[in-house]
Amino acid sequence: MAAYSAPLDDFKFLLHDWLKVTDNYQAMNKGDFDADLVNEIITQGAKFAEEVVAPLNLNGDNQGCRLEDGKVSTPDGFAKAYAEYIENGWNSMLGSEIYGGQELPYSAAIPVHEMLMSANVSWRLICGLTESAVLALEKHGSDELKDAYLPNLISGEWTGTMCLTEPQAGTDLSLLTTKADNNDDGSYNITGTKIFISGGDHEWTDNIIHLVLARLPDAPAGVKGISLFLVPKFMPDGSANDLSVGSIEHKMGLHGCPTCVMNFDGAKGWLVGAPHSGLACMFTMMNDARFQVGLQGVGIGEASYQGALEYAKDRLQSRAPQGIQEPEKKADAIIHLPDVRRMLLTQKSLVEGSRALGLLYAKQMDIARFGTPEEQANAEAIIAFLTPITKSFFTDMGQEVSQHGVQVYGGHGYIQEWGMEQHIRDSRITQLYEGTNGIQALDLISRKLVRDGGKLLSVTNELFAQMVSDIADGSSRDQASGILNDWHATAESLLGTDAVATAAKAYDFMQYSAYSLIAICWLSMADRAQTSGNALAQSKTKVCDFYLKRIFPRASAHKISLALDEHDLMQMTADEF
Ligand SMILES: Cc1cc2nc3c(=O)[nH]c(=O)nc-3n(C[C@H](O)[C@H](O)[C@H](O)COP(=O)(O)OP(=O)(O)OC[C@H]3O[C@@H](n4cnc5c(N)ncnc54)[C@H](O)[C@@H]3O)c2cc1C
Repeated sequence: MAAYSAPLDDFKFLLHDWLKVTDNYQAMNKGDFDADLVNEIITQGAKFAEEVVAPLNLNGDNQGCRLEDGKVSTPDGFAKAYAEYIENGWNSMLGSEIYGGQELPYSAAIPVHEMLMSANVSWRLICGLTESAVLALEKHGSDELKDAYLPNLISGEWTGTMCLTEPQAGTDLSLLTTKADNNDDGSYNITGTKIFISGGDHEWTDNIIHLVLARLPDAPAGVKGISLFLVPKFMPDGSANDLSVGSIEHKMGLHGCPTCVMNFDGAKGWLVGAPHSGLACMFTMMNDARFQVGLQGVGIGEASYQGALEYAKDRLQSRAPQGIQEPEKKADAIIHLPDVRRMLLTQKSLVEGSRALGLLYAKQMDIARFGTPEEQANAEAIIAFLTPITKSFFTDMGQEVSQHGVQVYGGHGYIQEWGMEQHIRDSRITQLYEGTNGIQALDLISRKLVRDGGKLLSVTNELFAQMVSDIADGSSRDQASGILNDWHATAESLLGTDAVATAAKAYDFMQYSAYSLIAICWLSMADRAQTSGNALAQSKTKVCDFYLKRIFPRASAHKISLALDEHDLMQMTADEF
């Protein structure tokens, strides 16, 4: 099984040569984060991911989680690695300084997150959810709640969960029935059952803080009647709250992360944000989590690519059609075979292209947090538009890349000990949770494009137009400009589309957008690699060439579908299926 080796050269190229993130830091009074410091952060993060977290991945998958006497335990070594993680301050990278966080720029922290996801996505999930819970609490919690809970959530002494899903309420949260009764002392009693709760219980920390969606007695029906509550496993006085783990799920992948049925039996909780505005507050958590899930796709994709690459260089089968490559051996390594190269290059171009778009997004997160009010508004608009793309495309990509990884191994890829089939199983959930990819696509076209009237589109287009104009090579600039203009015009042509046609076009628009925007990133990256003389220049240029010739044409198929109305999808009656 290939050992994970963090792609530090790629991160350094993207952060410093391509995005020039530290120029941005100067403008945002974060000038103490110079390139050396950023490199030190990601180098130490890489060491932790490679040496502490990655070695637990295969056994974590085999062993899974256990529920005994109402208590959940995770695979051997997971809790110890977490203790080391918080001890070294990794959990507090992004938290606000006033609550003990380090307020690192996102663009310095996100590479560490991606590396941890490559190393062991099951282990990383609970840490990510805690970070997202911190954001929701920082933005919407009362001062009392913030003072009481943020320091320990930010340090990692406690972890957080997201409790939305109920048996009858998945995508459609208007159907949720968990109720909250007012105790008239500022607290509420929460009663109901939540399912599929990641990290609902574990042995890592003394307390777990659940963020729970529930309805007040006077709540209007639908999503406008949902409120958000903070419900701790242990109360401030140390007594146990009235909640329990009903069971843990036995699932396809992600075995090292406990997925719990949580029973709230009049558990005490406190309101976060205003009554009935719970979904809006929860969206702060969900949007962050959606990007993080996207990063899971990139991280797992990278791990699969590394495994496939090592094997392709090692595995001797057949002679290459272009002539014998390794005459001293009985056969050539399969990396010389065009079809194996097709798979490896598909993996590499998709992973590196997605990583680039992800770090571009992280730079916008920096601006949204530390920029001037005007810059913040601009960056928030770009983030809003790109979030569903990063979540859905990166995770579809992670699954596709994982499939290629198994294929490169032949039958051995199907055998557990190589770790390649685990990537397929682990990445499959990323297309489903935090809102399925179908829902992300709908969010993009419906809320972020059509209902918004094209404002987010226009701001996002400006960001990419700037990227295009910065391309030094004339022919690359023209090519990128053509792709951007085509994408922008196609997106604008969808404004005014009715609800049924919008829903029918959603997936194609998401895919078309992602392939197009990543094509522009590739042209820009290849150009910058050349002009900056980065050691990756040759590789970036060649992988860009592959992406444009063999991956980007997929965008055309989606564009053809975008021109269709919904008739072909809707003409069959349900009985005719
Ligand atoms: C391992 C795991 C971990 C999870 N962790 C958490 C967690 O920590 N917290 C939490 O609250 N939840 C969690 N979930 C739940 C997860 O977020 C939901 O499963 C997911 O949102 C989809 O809901 P559902 O499963 O009920 O599917 P459904 O909503 O029943 O969807 C079924 C299908 O219908 C489609 N569909 C539904 N509505 C629409 C629509 N309007 N337009 C187009 N298509 C639609 C969906 O895309 C999907 O293909 C987890 C789930 C799993 C399996």
